[in-house]
Amino acid sequence: MSEWMPLPFPKCPRCQKSWVKSYHCCLVPGEVLVEPYQRQAKCCSCSEQWYVLNTSFNCSCGYTFSASEVENALSTTQLLKQRLIQKLNEMDSFERSITTKSQSSFKQWIGSISYEIGRLLGTTVSQAKQLIDNFFEKWSF
Ligand SMILES: [Zn+2]
Ligand SMILES: [Zn+2]
Repeated sequence: MSEWMPLPFPKCPRCQKSWVKSYHCCLVPGEVLVEPYQRQAKCCSCSEQWYVLNTSFNCSCGYTFSASEVENALSTTQLLKQRLIQKLNEMDSFERSITTKSQSSFKQWIGSISYEIGRLLGTTVSQAKQLIDNFFEKWSF
């Protein structure tokens, strides 16, 4: 399973702002994408690729994230959570009236991601599903 997703800019400890996307500091600043399983990040503009924890976050307020702050924000769990939120948002904008067909494909997707979550978190698949269910309640999907 491999999937590139936009790298969210984590909440800045100084100004408390966060963004859904991050941009690489290069000639033509490109969107940064991340692969949560391989822990790789890449820039859409210059095609540079790097280990996700080597990402530098410089907030518009002037704050630069420390290595441990980057590590907290970019844990696999955090990235997967982010991916889940994105997926839910996609689903939401995709269609408000959920048909039987999309529901079953969504269930399949949940099945596959909960396996991945379970594997990464070292929990069982049913625990991971529980985690996702709790997530759903919060989102009142
Ligand atoms: Zn800031
Ligand atoms: Zn770049």
